[in-house]
Amino acid sequence: MLKIYNTLTRKKEIFKPIKKGQVGIYSCGPTVYSYQHIGNLRSYIFTDILKRVLTYNDYDIKHIMNVTDVGHLTSDADTGEDKIEKAARKEKKTAQEITNYYWKIFRQDFKKLNIDEPDIWAKATEHIKEQIEMIKKIEAKGYTYKTGDGIYFDTSKLKDYGELAQLRKQKLKAGKRIELKEKKNITDFALWKFSPSTSSGQAKRQQEWDSPWGIGFPGWHIECSAMSSKYLGKQFDIHTGGEEHIPVHHTNEIAQSETTFGKKPWVKYWLHARWLLFKGEKMAKSKGKIYTLSELENEDFKPLDYRYFCLTAHYRTQLNFTLKNLEKAKNAYDRLKNIIPTLKDNPSISLGTERKINKKYLNEFEKAINNDLDMPVALSVLWNLIRDKKAEGEIKTIQKMDKIFGLDLLKEERVSIPNNVKKLIDQREKARKEKNWQKADELRQKIKKLGYWVEDTDKRPMVKII
Ligand code: AMP
Ligand code: ZN
Repeated sequence: MLKIYNTLTRKKEIFKPIKKGQVGIYSCGPTVYSYQHIGNLRSYIFTDILKRVLTYNDYDIKHIMNVTDVGHLTSDADTGEDKIEKAARKEKKTAQEITNYYWKIFRQDFKKLNIDEPDIWAKATEHIKEQIEMIKKIEAKGYTYKTGDGIYFDTSKLKDYGELAQLRKQKLKAGKRIELKEKKNITDFALWKFSPSTSSGQAKRQQEWDSPWGIGFPGWHIECSAMSSKYLGKQFDIHTGGEEHIPVHHTNEIAQSETTFGKKPWVKYWLHARWLLFKGEKMAKSKGKIYTLSELENEDFKPLDYRYFCLTAHYRTQLNFTLKNLEKAKNAYDRLKNIIPTLKDNPSISLGTERKINKKYLNEFEKAINNDLDMPVALSVLWNLIRDKKAEGEIKTIQKMDKIFGLDLLKEERVSIPNNVKKLIDQREKARKEKNWQKADELRQKIKKLGYWVEDTDKRPMVKII
């Protein structure tokens, strides 16, 4: 029985999909104007774990992730410049060159971190028609108005606007932090923005489209409402994103979708990952120092060291990043990778006998992952299994656990060969040189018992973990 924390109800709930055995997930993806930093990547590791846990529980998943390649402005209050247009100008590239390049790097990071790609990558610029159609529907229902710079959603018309973020409790007042300008209510947001006129003095946009309201581009929120419904229908199971999406982006997605489809709740479970912090603040480009995955690699970390680091904290707690903390995680991960090949139910020893699962530890593990994806507890179960000298079935159990961790725990390439094995390999090489084939064979068996297989090649012996 899987339980997940639903931001909508602020409770841990038993997960029940709309359609038996199937789960539709939509995740807010990257804005591809720059490199994604490791904070961004933490939120995608969370989504990956969620998908793995659902798969483990035998659900069929359809996962959509958007790629924001237009419409995300530098300010959440619908002001400022389009992040993509700004980057294109700065780098003297076309908007498409910018978005394609950063999206490519992003996908490479996914691969390095063992993050499964979504079934569909949905790009905002490839769904302009769907977004216009949705705005037309919202307009037909009387929820829009026009200002000098765009078409806006009138949030005062929705009696339960802001339910996800519990905005009413927070009593947001106009004129306090946010400038109202032509907006009727501070929470109103742009559905369609007009392109700046040539007389405004602003640079001409590269990405703009014709629409019933004139030439322009979609607001940031409408892409997620339009694309999720295209691929997952008018109601679906899970929507994910970062914690900062709760008060604005996701609140506005709900307003648009529930107005258009008249279904409530539009999404059954809202899951939010909390931030990676750096020096006590959200890691963000605007806040100064960020780290990319490549930068960590330049510091001699492997991408999976970072994945392990993320698993040491629950996704609903903020996680402080320092290179020192990452180093600690790396050391623990290295230890794991070195111990696992030496475990006693290694295939080299139990060859021919049925290898089994350790039910006790696997049950504890399943309890942890099904308890709102509690990865720190799941990791501690793995460590307890490894430390338990009497435990049986370690390897097969670890194999199952790694379907969730995604840490390549049984993959050999990173494992350093222990000294005792190295010594035996050297002795065997010596025996071979002396043409003492019997001794070489005996040593090969000894090495095998320690979980390694030596293959003779022209140059030097090749060692594999078995
Ligand atoms: P962006 O590319 O800025 O639209 O962000 C992509 C995703 O990364 C969003 O889901 C954000 O919530 C998430 N994100 C941004 N900064 C952080 C951070 N410091 N820690 C965790 N997630 C973050
Ligand atoms: Zn979104």
